[in-house]
Amino acid sequence: MEVEQNQACTELLLLVIDGQATEEQHQELMKHLEECESCRKEYLLSKTIKDSLKNHIKVNGTPKDLANSIQNKISETASLK
Ligand SMILES: [Zn+2]
Repeated sequence: MEVEQNQACTELLLLVIDGQATEEQHQELMKHLEECESCRKEYLLSKTIKDSLKNHIKVNGTPKDLANSIQNKISETASLK
């Protein structure tokens, strides 16, 4: 319900995902993720997608493999409560 709060942490999250966050911002996000479940899920999801893309470009996987592995990761992440 706290829209401003959520926007602030989404921005932080995006910085970290993009690798543009400072060490301080990174620490801040990590601390925040421990207490904010929605950010934690979003972080895991974004990170997973980003890692999958990176790995699959190197490993030369097919788009279908990529879609499957992302789908699996999303299911795994969604089942983490
Ligand atoms: Zn948050």
